[in-house]
Amino acid sequence: MSARSGLYKSPDQLRAMVRPGLVTAAALDAVRDAIQVGVSTLELDAIAEKVIRDSGGIPNFQLEPGYRHTLCTSINDAVVHGVPSELRIAAGDIVSIDCGAAVDGWNGDAAFSLVVPDPARPELVARREALNTATERSLWAGIAALATASVVNDIGAAVEASIEGSGEYGIIEDFAGHGIGRSMHEDPEVYNFRVRGGSPKVKPGLAVAIEPMITLGSIETHELADGWTQVTDDGSDAAHWEHSVAVHADGLWVLTAEDGGAAGLAPFGVVPVPIRAL
Ligand code: MG
Ligand code: MG
Repeated sequence: MSARSGLYKSPDQLRAMVRPGLVTAAALDAVRDAIQVGVSTLELDAIAEKVIRDSGGIPNFQLEPGYRHTLCTSINDAVVHGVPSELRIAAGDIVSIDCGAAVDGWNGDAAFSLVVPDPARPELVARREALNTATERSLWAGIAALATASVVNDIGAAVEASIEGSGEYGIIEDFAGHGIGRSMHEDPEVYNFRVRGGSPKVKPGLAVAIEPMITLGSIETHELADGWTQVTDDGSDAAHWEHSVAVHADGLWVLTAEDGGAAGLAPFGVVPVPIRAL
């Protein structure tokens, strides 16, 4: 659809990625506010699309061949790529919302998960909350690693170490993070686990979407008959978090967080630095 950009962006190219990142963040905020028991995932999709279009952006998931939606909505055993539908959110669901926006030909991509309250099933909710917290923490560990990483594969090592420190969880290997720029999906692949072998250097200009996908059980997945939704083989719950992050000469900046990642990175002693205006 759109041209790919190079592995290392120029300062002005990184600058161009700030706006799509913030539009993506705003769409996700609006969806987060709207999630409640009884809302359909198609209704959430419409909310996200309106935020992006009102901001002058394009829902970039719609640029994927054959995909008509703004979000991927992956519930419970769905890991990623769940398709919005008439399905309504239920109490206790663990819901992953993945969204992206393109603005002026540059892309943002981010995701969060949350557990819908269910007072009748406190143990289920606690188990899912722990999974969700571990997944979010591993995302921030991966982002924080970028501050000192020498190569891209250092990110996955940090994600895996974080998950190991959180408990007995499965790290999905069938899907990975990715470079991002003029296209939503570019090189390099960004694994969520330790990988042998070489990978590109981390240096100014690198822009990557980091997105750990973590389960309570099997790491094996399969696709549903809709041709998109990826579910765990054993039906275990999954969580998914994602941010698009830029490395620049002065530091790193989380493009899809309104605070540039300040809150999420604080526990790691990493302070994000805004990409300087031209
Ligand atoms: Mg995404
Ligand atoms: Mg992504």
